[in-house]
Amino acid sequence: MSHHILVINCGSSSLKFALINRADQRATVTGLAEKLGMTGACISFKQDGRKVELTLANGSHDGAMHAILSYLDERQLTHTISAIGHRVVHGGEAFKSSTLIDEQVIAAIDACSPLAPLHTPANLLGIRTARDCFPQLPQVAVFDTAFHQSMPAQAYLYAVPMALYREHGVRRYGFHGTSHRYVTSAAAVMLDKPLADTAFVCAHLGNGASVAAVLGGRSVDTSMGLTPLEGLVMGTRSGDIDPGLFSYLAQVLNTDIDGVTALLNKQSGLLGLSELSSDCRELEAAAADGHAGAQIALDVFCYRLAKQIAAMTVALGRLDAVLFTGGIGENSSLLRGKVIKLLGFLGLQLDEAANAAAIRGNSGRISTGDGVAALVVNTDEELMIAQDTAALCPQAS
Ligand code: ADP
Repeated sequence: MSHHILVINCGSSSLKFALINRADQRATVTGLAEKLGMTGACISFKQDGRKVELTLANGSHDGAMHAILSYLDERQLTHTISAIGHRVVHGGEAFKSSTLIDEQVIAAIDACSPLAPLHTPANLLGIRTARDCFPQLPQVAVFDTAFHQSMPAQAYLYAVPMALYREHGVRRYGFHGTSHRYVTSAAAVMLDKPLADTAFVCAHLGNGASVAAVLGGRSVDTSMGLTPLEGLVMGTRSGDIDPGLFSYLAQVLNTDIDGVTALLNKQSGLLGLSELSSDCRELEAAAADGHAGAQIALDVFCYRLAKQIAAMTVALGRLDAVLFTGGIGENSSLLRGKVIKLLGFLGLQLDEAANAAAIRGNSGRISTGDGVAALVVNTDEELMIAQDTAALCPQAS
């Protein structure tokens, strides 16, 4: 009986996967291969609450995929897979929804690779490796950018010469679309409202972070742009800056564009401000101990997030709820509380006890009153990918 979807999220040095049961939508096995292409490549599997860790003799992506295949073979699970779903970071304007993969689709994904040069080759490697290992199975691509393709031109255009849009695809695309889509649907269910009647600002706060304005289940604006660097303060990314910083920093640091790009992506954000860590949990602990860098980093993070959430209400015209998700959004009652207090003028009122309780997988409403709601919603991008894959690959009866 073919009742599983294999979900693959292939990065440049890691491969995350989940074997999801079509019927109950639960993960039978999850796992992560790390340090691929480096020394010390390893893979771990989690099943029934038990974890198995192995070093990979062949530490390539292909080696990782074969290790997954052997693990599943040994447990008689391989024949239960009916389709494979892949996370693909950038689909440009070519992909407005998830799609079955064929040679044409692979070529179109490849054509988007200048827009995401770090991610696309890894995503394609995952697709090719999976096609080699499972040639008989249909495969589906689920794009981070697709959900935001519904944004209107006034939201996605930069005020630069139009020829740059026409000739080079220079526009805002947005990311985290799979998470924003999942979370806004789940929030409509939590509020017992038809999705078509909802106006949400969704804040996905992990190491990367973005907000999206989602009206009636369609994205109408988001904070990330051509690349994931735009918008909020993130773990190591600066988010919005004056683009004048590029030439100024190139001069004063005697570096080039790649040097400034790396500085803004890898040494900025919470890490750059705190001079301590990119990890929110560590910064909260340090801030509580009086670390001034950690305190200012968290203050800038919260202020900029509140400002972006307020800005997103322009796209919506009204606001039903602010949604918090991702590692920080689902766990940091401290940051959620600070942000909700900054947004009191929008009608948000913090429920302190509910906020403190909404951690480690507890979702729910953290605001009081009948005004604008604040909700903690646990995201599940793997499940969203599995659902899209199942929808495009119906089971033969
Ligand atoms: P990624 O974007 O890599 O998937 P996650 O969504 O897992 O990241 O989010 C990672 C972030 O969540 C880190 O900054 C981490 O410190 C933060 N986080 C996780 N648990 C907590 C917690 N209990 N309190 C505060 N922050 C937390």
